[in-house]
Amino acid sequence: MSILPRRFDRIKNVLNCRMKNLTVLVEAVNKPHNLSAILRTCDAAGVFEANFICEKDEVKTFNSTAQGSQKWVKLNNYETKISAVSELKKKGFKLYGTTLNKSSTDYRNFDYTGNTCFVLGAEKWGLSNEIISKVDESIFIPMSGMVQSLNVSVAASILLFEAIRQRNIKNLLPFDGEGLSNEEYQKTLFEWSYPEIASVYRKSGEKYPTLNQYGEINQIINN
Ligand code: SAM
Repeated sequence: MSILPRRFDRIKNVLNCRMKNLTVLVEAVNKPHNLSAILRTCDAAGVFEANFICEKDEVKTFNSTAQGSQKWVKLNNYETKISAVSELKKKGFKLYGTTLNKSSTDYRNFDYTGNTCFVLGAEKWGLSNEIISKVDESIFIPMSGMVQSLNVSVAASILLFEAIRQRNIKNLLPFDGEGLSNEEYQKTLFEWSYPEIASVYRKSGEKYPTLNQYGEINQIINN
């Protein structure tokens, strides 16, 4: 059965605003409600994919706080800190580690309009020294309360929406799919429109069929 036109339009509208050049890397955040809230913020901000360091045998779990956003934000899991950092740097991301130590800089002093990855740390201990030593910049969000830090998902929201604010001022927010390659756009459009069929195609190793303007699957002609 074909997707309803209204649903297809909604999916396209969301995908049109997704950005591949803004992301987060989350280290050792294990509480499902925090991971879920971070992912929900990523979805709301237009982040296309999020990154998690997930040591062996660990499974990232999400709860109702996510409101299903794990379906709409691609998750990249890395088994080691080194692989996460090197992969993101290879993709051209500048890594902004969030730390509360003295050598950190106020987050408002940076330009987040280029390839930006905010690196977020664990609820109790924050980022590991290994990660801190590898990020490009260390940033903090100034606070004036009695409590020493913000909740990690709140920090993620403040930073992501600062990036959105800066991009908006410079007219850099995508609105017609410019934030993704055409191949990535079409692939994701199919997966979001027809998740079950997409999984069958993935298992068989076949390429997804194309969709017409109404979201209907174009007939595949086998010669
Ligand atoms: N004691 C930990 C520390 O010193 O980092 C506190 C960890 S905090 C509860 C969890 C995460 O939230 C941090 O690793 C950071 O990613 C983020 N965070 C919390 N408050 C922040 C702030 N004011 N500025 C930047 N990031 C913050």
